[in-house]
Amino acid sequence: MDLRVEHECPSCGKVMSLGERDRLAHCPSCFDQTYLVKPSLPRAVLADRIPAEVDGSDIFYYPYMRFKGVIYTSFVDRVTHRLLDVTQQARTEAVAPPSLGDRVRGTRLTRVHRAMRGRFIRKSLPTGDILQRAAARAEQSIDERSRPFIHQVFVSEVVSCIYLPLYRVGDTIFDGATGRSLGAKKLWQSALHQTISFQPHWQSNFLSTLCPHCGDVLEGGADSSVMHCRQCDTCWLEDEGTFVSVPYGYVPMQGEDVAHLPFWRLRVRCDQPKLYTLADLILATNRPILIKADHKRAELMIWVPGFTMAPAAFLNAARHLTLAQLSVPPVRGAYRGKLASVSVSLTEAMGTLKTVFAHIVEKRGDILNHLADITLSCRDGALVYLPFQKRGPVSVQPHTSLNIEEFERN
Ligand SMILES: [Zn+2]
Ligand SMILES: [Zn+2]
Repeated sequence: MDLRVEHECPSCGKVMSLGERDRLAHCPSCFDQTYLVKPSLPRAVLADRIPAEVDGSDIFYYPYMRFKGVIYTSFVDRVTHRLLDVTQQARTEAVAPPSLGDRVRGTRLTRVHRAMRGRFIRKSLPTGDILQRAAARAEQSIDERSRPFIHQVFVSEVVSCIYLPLYRVGDTIFDGATGRSLGAKKLWQSALHQTISFQPHWQSNFLSTLCPHCGDVLEGGADSSVMHCRQCDTCWLEDEGTFVSVPYGYVPMQGEDVAHLPFWRLRVRCDQPKLYTLADLILATNRPILIKADHKRAELMIWVPGFTMAPAAFLNAARHLTLAQLSVPPVRGAYRGKLASVSVSLTEAMGTLKTVFAHIVEKRGDILNHLADITLSCRDGALVYLPFQKRGPVSVQPHTSLNIEEFERN
């Protein structure tokens, strides 16, 4: 489920509607292009039908957490994945609906802003606890719930807070989205006493999309975490409200059916066990690969797709490229065409490192029992665009023989 959220254009103040993952905004009124700086927790409120005569002091916003992404679970014998696309109450009131369910479908959502009339009820549970409740509610396999796992990670596409508007008339609390009664005010007492007004750091900010280096206009897809300046041949990602440069390169290839797709090449280090080179990784994971001098010379790099794929294909592509990386020709800069969107951010790619490592381990070796103690630290990341040739429904990376089925991309 993809939700759209309304923002105010920073230039003209008119409404712009962005997808939840979108970063690049084009204002339909003043045509300004800006780049969304996401607050650490984006917050939006459901459209309400609160009668105009209700006073602001009788309006409250009740918090839900929205999680969309994939939960990867590493067991001793395999890595499984589960898609999560849910909202979950961020408190424990039994009178509140446990999730927003279908309420969010096709409804207008507005980013919270300072002119809102009511007060915000605080979240009372830590985000990790809310995620666990949401995952348990979405649980499909009893088998997996009861089996011990060795590592679990939620790779998020969206983590945000969505408020359900409530209002009081007399001694009754009403759902501001549907107008239905949600019980007597006394049942909501503790929530209504834990409110907070709008906080300045909840505000969404927008950056100008001019290249920090040469001042030309940056380009990118709507949901791209990386912007490209064709004028001075640089790539940029947003970090704490400013654009910082990110190294990038591409492997040249001509041809009609050639498309370049982005991958994150992460320079990784692990001190216990000592994993410093590609040879160390192959040995530790028991891969049946003949180790040559090149493997011993190659620094440990883990490759992760920079575009959204189905979870199993994502892990397979990461494993394949990591092990085949010596076959990738040297990269070049100065790409002349339009670069494909990098919908998986560097931070998201780094979040998958341990899962990719577990997926590389051959015949689920003994090292997995120590996975909890292994720290894979990422020292830096570069973006590499690899050429793929289209062969029927499959795209093939000719240097590494990585195949991507068209339906595996989404
Ligand atoms: Zn505008
Ligand atoms: Zn530039």
